[in-house]
Amino acid sequence: MATLRPSVACPAKPTVKTEALHAVNMESIVLFGPPGAGKGTQAQRIMQSTGLPQVSTGDMLRASVAAGTETGMKAKKFMDAGQLVPDDVIIALIRDRIQDADASNGVMFDGFPRTIPQAEALAGITNVSHVIAIEVPDEKIVERICGRYTCGNCGAVYHDTFNPTKTEGTCNSCGSSDFKRRADDNADTVMSRLSAYHEQTSPLADWYDSKGIFHRIDGDRAIDEISTDILIALE
Ligand code: AMP
Repeated sequence: MATLRPSVACPAKPTVKTEALHAVNMESIVLFGPPGAGKGTQAQRIMQSTGLPQVSTGDMLRASVAAGTETGMKAKKFMDAGQLVPDDVIIALIRDRIQDADASNGVMFDGFPRTIPQAEALAGITNVSHVIAIEVPDEKIVERICGRYTCGNCGAVYHDTFNPTKTEGTCNSCGSSDFKRRADDNADTVMSRLSAYHEQTSPLADWYDSKGIFHRIDGDRAIDEISTDILIALE
């Protein structure tokens, strides 16, 4: 594999709009699940089928950190510690993002919402038609997270063992040899991220289940099988 570099990720939005926002007329999908469940991998596949853009709060925050924005500076210490970034920061990011033209027909949220206040805020700004929960047992999470890397050019997601590039050092999708690993994808931080998931995020499962839009998918299988089941759930 090519030399791995620290994350530089997507272009950053330099400021967060703070003006009052109106509800957007769209139906969105939420990809839900613990860190390392494969939400990003599946988001890229579902994006091709649904046309909905992927909105990953983790990617947006990493871009903000790399660009040194105010949001990035607020978020960094929480991300480095594997803790959730405060709700007000996240909700402002999302309110800003869904104003973009590509979000007018709905988006696919990846890693958002992660708390009840975030879900309540989301309900006020867009309709969520499906919540897809990708379920992976805790004991599988550490090995999944610690071996993963992404293409620095197109964002394709790989894993040293479970999903390597077909040709070593070359991205299957775009041919780039520029790969990166996330700074928080290490064994110590993973345990904090898992705790945050169980304590703050998993209560959302009942919240969405009570609305009849929650779909559980076994994420401990081949990537293609998971994609197939997600697309069936979305039909
Ligand atoms: P992810 O890329 O989704 O694993 O997110 C990486 C880190 O960004 C998390 O460990 C949190 O520190 C932060 N983060 C991402 N999304 C959220 C969110 N919706 N709420 C709070 N913190 C978040």
